[in-house]
Amino acid sequence: KRVGFAIVGIGKLSAEELIPAARTSQHAYIAALVTSEEDKGEAFARAFDLTPDDVYSYDDFEKLAGRDDVEAVYIVLPNSLHREYVERAAKMGKHVLCEKPLSVNEQDAQAMVDACRAANVLLMTAYRCQYTPEHWAARDAVQGGKLGKVKLLDSIHVQSEDDPSVWRLKLDLAGGGPLPDVGLYSVNIIRFVLGQEPEWVFAALHQPEGDPRFGEVEESVSAMLGFPGGVIANVLTSYGALKTTTLRVMGEEGSLLMDPAFPYDGLGLEITTDDGTFSPSFPEYDQFSREFDHFAQCVRGGQTPWTPGEEGVADHRVMDAIYESARTGKRVELRPVEKKDASR
Ligand code: NAD
Repeated sequence: KRVGFAIVGIGKLSAEELIPAARTSQHAYIAALVTSEEDKGEAFARAFDLTPDDVYSYDDFEKLAGRDDVEAVYIVLPNSLHREYVERAAKMGKHVLCEKPLSVNEQDAQAMVDACRAANVLLMTAYRCQYTPEHWAARDAVQGGKLGKVKLLDSIHVQSEDDPSVWRLKLDLAGGGPLPDVGLYSVNIIRFVLGQEPEWVFAALHQPEGDPRFGEVEESVSAMLGFPGGVIANVLTSYGALKTTTLRVMGEEGSLLMDPAFPYDGLGLEITTDDGTFSPSFPEYDQFSREFDHFAQCVRGGQTPWTPGEEGVADHRVMDAIYESARTGKRVELRPVEKKDASR
């Protein structure tokens, strides 16, 4: 039996990617929608074989408690609202898939993990890039020793944000600027390919004066992450330049380039060693449908997802340290963390 999801928030991501992707999922389906816009909700309900009764307002969220067919909720709201809705969902005994960034800082993210644990429900951070064959091939090349001893990584995620009124530029809703929105992909994928946590962070940011877009959040961040064994990774993110998404890994015996590294499809991957340059190719797939399938299977089997809430907490810990380093001008040492226990 497939797992029924309620989608909470019908913005761009839900409308253009998630709701359509659920159609191609083998293990998940959309059973309900939660939105403040009744007309929009009903239009989506009609288009996706739901009834107007399957559409709820945010105030009526708790009515989902009576819907046994809704086993999981997917939170797709501005970042600072994630915590409230994850906690409300956990209280109803619903499993929760939550969009990235999990929250706005490590403390709030940890509170969400704790709330889901106390309610005995699963929490997954929607890190779509940890469910693609390309990112797994990159990880396997790094951890399988194909590049020899890895020394350096470098990841860029830059995109322009031109409209000063969007919630992404409001500190209370977004929790930061490009760092938690797009730079997060670089932090997350660097940790994923290495399979290790950084020991220290050193960072700087730029927030231009007089630009209405950047009154509350930074325009650009450059951060250096130090990993065990002297491995150094650079993260570069901005809302001020045209789209660039890359990941580079450099080892003693080879290197790897993903370009583009983070779009919804068309990922590039080149692995270069003494044998030449190799670009693995994979059958077509949908990142969002894979994510739905993974979480639905975890719900059915009672397994911890591959990217649980703790994975979101780990990135917030690094991002909090990046902001601290940029603020103080000092390198920030990170305390060691326990290894997670999750299913692939
Ligand atoms: P969006 O602005 O298009 O949609 C936001 C939704 O939240 C809308 O339905 C809006 O009505 C609702 N909302 C409720 N309260 C709100 C408030 N106070 N202010 C503004 N909107 C409010 O945003 P989006 O691009 O769909 O992003 C939603 C979440 O998904 C964010 O956490 C974002 O980081 C994440 N996201 C993830 C990916 C990915 O690739 N995984 C891509 C885009 C967005």
